[in-house]
Amino acid sequence: MCGIIGHTGQQATQQFLIEGLKRLEYRGYDSAGVAIQNGSIHLYKKKGNIAALEGYLPEKISGNCGIAHTRWATHGKPNNENAHPHMSYSKRLVMVHNGIIENYQMIKEDLMAKGITFSSDTDSEVLLNLIDWEFSLTHDLIKAIKNALTQVEGSYAIAIIKSDEPNTIYACRNGSPLILGEKDGEYFIASDALAINAFANQIYYPEDKDLAIVHASKGISFMDENGVPKKIESEELVQTNDHAQKKDFEDFMLKEIFEQPDSLRRSFIQPSASSDIDHLVEKVKACNRIIVLGCGTSWHAGLIGKYLIEKLARIPVEVEYASEFRYRHPVIQSSDLVLSISQSGETADTLAANRLARENNAMTLGICNVKRSTLTRETDYQLYLNAGAEIGVASTKAFTSQVSILTQLALFIAKERKEELSKNTMQALEALPAKIETVLKQSEAIKQLALKYALANHFLFIGRGVNYPVALEGALKLKEISYIHAEGYPGAEMKHGPIALIDYSFPTFAIVTDDENRSKMISNIKEIQARNGKVIALIQEGDNETAQVADEVISIPNTMDELIPILSTVPLQLFSYHAAKIRGCNVDQPRNLAKSVTVE
Ligand code: GLU
Repeated sequence: MCGIIGHTGQQATQQFLIEGLKRLEYRGYDSAGVAIQNGSIHLYKKKGNIAALEGYLPEKISGNCGIAHTRWATHGKPNNENAHPHMSYSKRLVMVHNGIIENYQMIKEDLMAKGITFSSDTDSEVLLNLIDWEFSLTHDLIKAIKNALTQVEGSYAIAIIKSDEPNTIYACRNGSPLILGEKDGEYFIASDALAINAFANQIYYPEDKDLAIVHASKGISFMDENGVPKKIESEELVQTNDHAQKKDFEDFMLKEIFEQPDSLRRSFIQPSASSDIDHLVEKVKACNRIIVLGCGTSWHAGLIGKYLIEKLARIPVEVEYASEFRYRHPVIQSSDLVLSISQSGETADTLAANRLARENNAMTLGICNVKRSTLTRETDYQLYLNAGAEIGVASTKAFTSQVSILTQLALFIAKERKEELSKNTMQALEALPAKIETVLKQSEAIKQLALKYALANHFLFIGRGVNYPVALEGALKLKEISYIHAEGYPGAEMKHGPIALIDYSFPTFAIVTDDENRSKMISNIKEIQARNGKVIALIQEGDNETAQVADEVISIPNTMDELIPILSTVPLQLFSYHAAKIRGCNVDQPRNLAKSVTVE
């Protein structure tokens, strides 16, 4: 999950490392640190976010080679000792690590028996000390890294500098993301392109187990896991410098909620791509079944996709948590389409589940926001969100764009059978950005509602049909950023358990849209109120009947049933945002979370 950045070249390193860390902070913010080589290694690390590290760093550390890290703790508490970079027991190596070394305990005991001491609780320090131990035997760092990596199980992206070797960084990956970049004699390594896209114009994508050696004057060279030199062609990296701007917004999350009219427009599949889409659609139609894989918010988008694809295109769809699918020995057939959804394209479980699908000869499709991410490189077909960088840890604009892409896919598949409906729905989709604007105008009214309810400790979200996944997403968003316990349920399931929880202090969000489930949802509202529960109803404009029943109402413009989730999600995002702010939470960096879950 963490962020890694490294630089060497002609210019001073410190500025690149700090700027890179700031761009990576959304990947983890338990602690941060930098190590700079200028003849010897200067190491600074601190619990807390990058601002805490900046306050602790000397203003100017000279040196043109260094590595830095922002941590999302897996092994060991977030404290100064466990922060990266780590220095090895002999003090000659310093390393940053992203990932998990699963057999760290055994290796640690073995090294301790050899007299090696440890100063942190992390799995990362174990790998580093193993490399140092191997170095003491071989006196060759490349050999030592290779030897150590054959002994570890788990995932890693690592970058190492050496106290007596200026200008050089060694980096390697296995299952965790790592890219390299360059521009005008400055060389970079990072855990994602966002960290370096203001500095580099060429980017390299190494494969698992490749070793990269980055030298300030000799540039970047690669070797494969057998130590054989390897050529990796660089690709052009489009330089951007605006992602880190919150513009006039207090938080990235709010900015991204308000960007949705634009991000949704950018999700519309362009006529210029129609031959690619036609080809994909023909392939999908030939499949017997679609298996959708995702985690968290992407899984919710997948559930909406299931409702739409089955309803419109009549292809059976199963939606699975990637983390369960990969380990439960699923039946995968070559006639299946496995559709993986991941905003970052780096979600560890989704990548592993997708690989399993490929091993079983299924056709694979990735729905992704980040171009050239691992998922897009490991799928047969790709559909892009084009939502722009999403920095807020709680996904907002990526979710509505995922749903938009899935809706369009369902409509394309259904086109021949339901020509009129497909045409009308596509037209209605094009009208949605303006309708989202209308919903966004209610932000202040939703804030007033949040003021009234934000002190509740529990919330229930209910919906039926395509609004059931919206209820799940509403509950997840509230949990993630406001720490209010919330559960999403299908309206009818409430009577099979959750209604036992309802009392005056346990409010419910009921998503009631004008479809076949409307009157059933009204009954659910009455059942909750009969137990003294308060109900906030999310309704469509003009639904006076529900408005009269509910305690509070938020209304969204009318649209076609199939498109409701894109609209009904937005007020729930705003409610979570305002509730979190009222409770004094850091919405962009919610506790214990990080964007892009690159460890299992
Ligand atoms: N497992 C390592 C740790 O807990 C690395 C975590 C990360 O990827 O940030 O320090």
